[in-house]
Amino acid sequence: MKVVVVGCTHAGTSAVKTILTENPDAEVTVYERNDNVSFLSCGIALYVGGVVKDPEGLFYSNPDELASFGADVKMEHDVLDIDTEGKTLTVKDLKTGEETQDTFDKLVVTTGSWPIIPPIDGIQSDNVVLCKNYNQAQEIIRRKDDKKRITVVGGGYIGIELVEAFAEDGKEVTLVDGLDRILNKYLDPEFTSVLEDDLRNRGVKIQLNEMVKGFVDNEDGTTTVQTSGGEYESDMVILCVGFRPNTELVKGQVDMLGNGAIIVDNYMRTSNPDVFAAGDSCAVNYNPTGGHAYIPLATNAVRMGLLVGKNIKEPTLEYRGTQSTSGLYLFGWNIGSTGVSENSAPVMGLETRAVMFEDNYRPEFMPTNEKIMMKLVYEVGTKRIVGGQVMSKYDITQSANTLSLAIQNKMTIEDLALVDFFFQPVFDRPWNYLNLLGQAAMAHEAEIEQESMNAGSN
Ligand SMILES: Cc1cc2nc3c(=O)[nH]c(=O)nc-3n(C[C@H](O)[C@H](O)[C@H](O)COP(=O)(O)OP(=O)(O)OC[C@H]3O[C@@H](n4cnc5c(N)ncnc54)[C@H](O)[C@@H]3O)c2cc1C
Repeated sequence: MKVVVVGCTHAGTSAVKTILTENPDAEVTVYERNDNVSFLSCGIALYVGGVVKDPEGLFYSNPDELASFGADVKMEHDVLDIDTEGKTLTVKDLKTGEETQDTFDKLVVTTGSWPIIPPIDGIQSDNVVLCKNYNQAQEIIRRKDDKKRITVVGGGYIGIELVEAFAEDGKEVTLVDGLDRILNKYLDPEFTSVLEDDLRNRGVKIQLNEMVKGFVDNEDGTTTVQTSGGEYESDMVILCVGFRPNTELVKGQVDMLGNGAIIVDNYMRTSNPDVFAAGDSCAVNYNPTGGHAYIPLATNAVRMGLLVGKNIKEPTLEYRGTQSTSGLYLFGWNIGSTGVSENSAPVMGLETRAVMFEDNYRPEFMPTNEKIMMKLVYEVGTKRIVGGQVMSKYDITQSANTLSLAIQNKMTIEDLALVDFFFQPVFDRPWNYLNLLGQAAMAHEAEIEQESMNAGSN
């Protein structure tokens, strides 16, 4: 079996290792246009903020390791063209410029994603940088020391992590977002308003509801970010307004969502059974809705890559889908979210109700304590849990993982209210906070039922 893997960061690395572990006789060729594999982009903010001291440590594999599994690793090779029916591809060696043809029995498309670059005037300014791969990380790191005013465009988790990192590094930071809240895809306003206040108190300028109209380079080397609400002079601008799948190579050859994300079945097969795909190049099966969604995360990438390896010869292990579970650390806040938020549920076609729950995480007789904030989102009628958010100065982020499990297994609010969790006063109360969250949802349902009975009897 001759396998060609195109692209080798998280999905590709995971696929290559699993293909060769499961099929030691497979002939695997990897084409990667960069000179590295497995770069953890999440480390960029950690490096900028001084938590990670050496960016060289932000890799967990390398071409030699993949070669030790038996792969023929062709670094700095750009795949220019793929014919999935003819099973051929054209590749350019970026060091020599030479173009060659190759063939395959099975193709693995792990070409990932690329930052969205909106058509804004002046976006090609040298001061506007992207933040995705190792080269861009090095560029940000190289430039950052002599830059004082940093503007981050985009208040998703990548933008927010960079805002924190630059603020911790002593920079004057402005965050611009066209929507009315930061982190709006992950968290509801009960959480984001606390975080926005905290950021403002730390001197971060948060410019919400402002669309960027243009970037104007000034003679003194700075760039003015012009928005619908103001102008922000900046030494460096980081653009993080989202990602799009990098799938031009197979466009029109396999089924895709409207944004170009490749649709795969539960065994990572595309609409062509000899073409597999994984990671940011793909749509995921989103368990809260049962439909497809585009959710580019490293967690999805490594999981889907593994499944390519398990299933490339024959279908053996099924994909369990995703809840898009995410964690974030922001100025001492430990934040976790999974599934839909109350705000995003209607957009996803779900009719939901939600409850907030706030408490101390453990009994008051303990010498110290911290407040916890939790939210549960569940489907009207079935009471199936479809989303959850948790936030505290105490680290309860693993509860987002527990809620992820609840969503994946289609548990109801009653299941959560009564599930067996331990009690130990160092950690929680006789009822764990997740049980209490489920019970808060049950109480809310009982109230609604009572109100409708009262209305019926009037
Ligand atoms: C700043 C930042 C922070 C993040 N933090 C987190 C986090 O905390 N948690 C989390 O789960 N996710 C996080 N992510 C998302 C995560 O990085 C991506 O989901 C992940 O990189 C996807 O991996 P992938 O292998 O599918 O694709 P990619 O990482 O996009 O890699 C695709 C690879 O394919 C190569 N390639 C593409 N086209 C070709 C071609 N024609 N020829 C040869 N090679 C090609 C590219 O060079 C690249 O190496 C973060 C992302 C960023 C940018």
